[in-house]
Amino acid sequence: MSAFVEQFMVDVKAKNAAEPEFHQAVEEVATSLEIVLDKHPEYRMHKVLERIVEPERVIMFRVPWQNDQGEVEVNRGFRIEMNSAIGPYKGGLRFHPSVNLGILKFLAFEQVFKNSLTTLPMGGGKGGSDFDPKGKSDNEVMRFCQSFMTELSRHIGPNTDVPAGDIGVGGREIGFLFGMYKKVRNEFTGVLTGKGLDWGGSLIRPEATGYGAVYFAANMLKTRNETLEGKTCLVSGSGNVAQFTCEKLLDLGAKPVTLSDSGGYIYDEAGIDREKLAFVMDLKNVRRGRIKEYAEKYSTATYKETDPNADHNPLWDHKAECAFPSATENEINAKDARNLLNNGCYVVSEGANMPTVPEGVDLFVDKKILYGPGKAANAGGVATSGLEMTQNSMRLSWTREEVDNRLAMIMESIHDACVGASERFGTPGNYVNGANIAGFLKVADAMIDQGVV
Ligand code: NDP
Repeated sequence: MSAFVEQFMVDVKAKNAAEPEFHQAVEEVATSLEIVLDKHPEYRMHKVLERIVEPERVIMFRVPWQNDQGEVEVNRGFRIEMNSAIGPYKGGLRFHPSVNLGILKFLAFEQVFKNSLTTLPMGGGKGGSDFDPKGKSDNEVMRFCQSFMTELSRHIGPNTDVPAGDIGVGGREIGFLFGMYKKVRNEFTGVLTGKGLDWGGSLIRPEATGYGAVYFAANMLKTRNETLEGKTCLVSGSGNVAQFTCEKLLDLGAKPVTLSDSGGYIYDEAGIDREKLAFVMDLKNVRRGRIKEYAEKYSTATYKETDPNADHNPLWDHKAECAFPSATENEINAKDARNLLNNGCYVVSEGANMPTVPEGVDLFVDKKILYGPGKAANAGGVATSGLEMTQNSMRLSWTREEVDNRLAMIMESIHDACVGASERFGTPGNYVNGANIAGFLKVADAMIDQGVV
């Protein structure tokens, strides 16, 4: 680490104690940006880096609700409004027991650069709660969402802050949240994205993050005159992003062989085909079951339970050319990264946010594999949320083809922006620097234009 980054991180850590994920995200960006600050002293003069790591606003609130037994439960709600230099705050809501201030700040920080990369006018935000929807009845989830929105509704709006889904927040939760917003504010507006198709949602929004991560991989492969056809792919997670990553991989002739949840993972050497994927979608989205059932249904698959004491994740230790981490942060540790490389993996396209630890990122960059970091590779989700906002404003709905074509175009332009910025600043092929720099420049220039606010 350079002396500049080291000193910068001392201050960040002192001000944001006990937020390791936030420190990790900031350190990666600061490391990439040093070459930019050296070339452009105006960013140092205007203290852009110091300002960009400070959220514009943090909202933290009590979320009391009643479970099916009539008992009172209390969760904590958050919204981080990180940066609005280029548009209203935009970013998902996460409901998961691990949610805390530091995790949401890291996600909001990443979102600022990601949203800038999409070419659409969206600032960065993120929110959520330590509520765990797993094992809760639909009525309990509804009561929680209603209580959460009673407070959040004071802070958001179609021109202020437009949340969407993330881990634990899918179509069901967005429906309950939207209903409560509409009731308390007495307005029908595009205040959330990921809405149902009959009430303002966009075609392809549910598919967009997974599809986008696959398009990003295809764009990276194109630089080597290769395609995804016939490639074996490791996919983690089995939620929204993982499911539609598999679907697009099948469309493009690749072979996904793994899926996981927090209980364990399945490996299906024969490949997860369309029929098996339909089973997973029903299992996860309707029956809300565990991935273990896949191996009970299909004899070609094996299931391995998660070992909390293991020093690596065996999912990443299979022969494959491509990896699509699509579950959660830091799910690929240094040993996993080495296992991937030793097994011949040379394409990593991150559907999840920050799924690879810094040492793993360094290994991928040093080995010069095609490594697409999350803030670029998974930007298709928020880009399509941006398209949903546009359709809401125009009171129009585009066709599936139209949205999918725009998504593919946006992913190509994000890819090209990363390649262009990495070359311009002397690190060709380094998509990490490319994404951080291209995302930063637009926001930084807007911040300077708008004065010290
Ligand atoms: P879902 O809730 O639909 O699915 C998450 C999946 O990851 C589940 O299979 C879940 O298993 C698994 N998982 C979650 N946390 C852990 C954990 N701590 N350990 C092991 N497995 C875990 O979420 P999404 O698919 O929407 O999100 C997945 C990732 O993609 C996240 O990093 C998210 O931030 C990122 N992302 C999502 C976008 C979107 O549009 N939805 C946009 C951009 C990024 P289990 O059910 O057992 O918890």
